[in-house]
Amino acid sequence: MPSFVRPDKCDGCKALDKTACQFICPNDLMALNTDTMKAYNQEPHQCWECYCCVKICPQGAIDVRGYADFVPMGASVVPLRSTDSIMWTVKFRNGSVKRFKFPIRTTPEGEADPSGGWSTEPSLDDHVLATEPDSLGTADVWTQ
Ligand code: SF4
Ligand code: SF4
Repeated sequence: MPSFVRPDKCDGCKALDKTACQFICPNDLMALNTDTMKAYNQEPHQCWECYCCVKICPQGAIDVRGYADFVPMGASVVPLRSTDSIMWTVKFRNGSVKRFKFPIRTTPEGEADPSGGWSTEPSLDDHVLATEPDSLGTADVWTQ
């Protein structure tokens, strides 16, 4: 579900040196129209759907395009960020509304544990993924 900017809400981050969405996008997709001072996703089909831009936008101006399997029948998806969570509001065509609230990361910058708290050390020399087998609960199987 690629993100898109709602021009009615975007203020071009005029209070900041650089627009937050341009700063945060890992794929460099967000651009600023300097005539209108509104941001836009210049390559939606390249969007990683990471939603960093959704989370960081101080105006709540970035929405996502819902895929039919997730929000069928033309429903809209509106993310709303708070300091510790993100709320997704899905509005269906028949008027019904569903909301889903998830916590967002609150680890101070630079203090995230790369191992995610798992004791397994990632290795490039075997076929298991990082955190495995601990995260799969199959450590006893691998050692057999
Ligand atoms: Fe507009 Fe939000 Fe991007 Fe700032 S972060 S430029 S308000 S879309
Ligand atoms: Fe960039 Fe991620 Fe936003 Fe897509 S969802 S525009 S990849 S920050």
